[in-house]
Amino acid sequence: MIANNSGPHLWFITHQELKNWLESIINHATLIAPQYCDGVVLFKPTTDVNEIAWGDTRPAMSIKEAFFPPTEQLMIVEKRGSEIKITENLFSDKQVIFSLRPCDARGVKVLDSAFITTEPEDSYYSRRRANTALIGRTCQQMSETCFCTSVGGSPSDPGDMDVMLTDTNGGYLVQIVSDKGGELVEGVNLQSTSISLQAEPESARTLAPQIGDWPARFADNYWEVLAERCLSCRICAYVCPTCRCFDVRDEALSSDNGWQEFERIRCWDSCTSEAYRRIAGGHNPRDTKAKRLKNRVFCKFYYYPQQYNPVACTGCGRCIEACPVNIDITEVLQHFMEVADANRA
Ligand code: SF4
Ligand code: SF4
Repeated sequence: MIANNSGPHLWFITHQELKNWLESIINHATLIAPQYCDGVVLFKPTTDVNEIAWGDTRPAMSIKEAFFPPTEQLMIVEKRGSEIKITENLFSDKQVIFSLRPCDARGVKVLDSAFITTEPEDSYYSRRRANTALIGRTCQQMSETCFCTSVGGSPSDPGDMDVMLTDTNGGYLVQIVSDKGGELVEGVNLQSTSISLQAEPESARTLAPQIGDWPARFADNYWEVLAERCLSCRICAYVCPTCRCFDVRDEALSSDNGWQEFERIRCWDSCTSEAYRRIAGGHNPRDTKAKRLKNRVFCKFYYYPQQYNPVACTGCGRCIEACPVNIDITEVLQHFMEVADANRA
């Protein structure tokens, strides 16, 4: 929201100057921005600012793959007899993400908590994170499935960005949020403005039950009812900005002159998959869809906040849109809120 009152210091940039700025970024970094791909908006690297989807449509996939790719080669191992050579594949490029929404920047912060802040640091993730700057945009309108305001977020929250843009007449208001953002705007034609941002309206009622309410829901029959229609397809985890489970595999590549070459890769995995918790001997402690669905929700709202601090749901609503059988996380939360309220009454 825009007003003529006090608030964070802002600058103004025209749409054309913004395009010029993004073009200059392309000269020294990979620019990742929303683009239409077969009718679907996705974050993709671009070398042409005219390819950018400027509208308010939230990309179907989150930005996590810029930090944590769906499949990533971690290292190459070469072996000849007892000789072994290991070459790690560490990311060294620069990347700038444009038109990130506050919920997705919050998702990056959630991933930081697991991959960087908590020991041991994941060097594959942290290299990408250190080499990436985030240029955000305020959401003009929340979509039907968005609920960021019910999990502590807001459509205009700049807190997890480096630079934040807010659409205004003829251009954008620019807020420089971090030192990295300050470096990014060096040399950019920013104009002074007397316009400032209005205070955010109060957030909607928190949707998630309190931490202490969750243990009593562990044996709830609701999970069985919900799971009757779950397909264990894992789409909810793949579209989610905060789901971060992965599998690590070694694959044989080639052999030449007595050298055998292998690659170690990691790829996304999900706790909603049937095989995820299967252990040696075939035992599976999460052998039903109900147990797996419960784990996903408990992870986001009970395990993760205790282990890493933030709630691991940003309210982006992607899992609601993507689930082929209409399992809606807000309905799950609403159900348990009502149960908790009834127990307190
Ligand atoms: S709404 Fe769904 S997809 Fe989005 S952060 Fe929450 S659990 Fe993940
Ligand atoms: S997207 Fe829906 S059906 Fe697929 S695993 Fe998730 S909850 Fe189950």
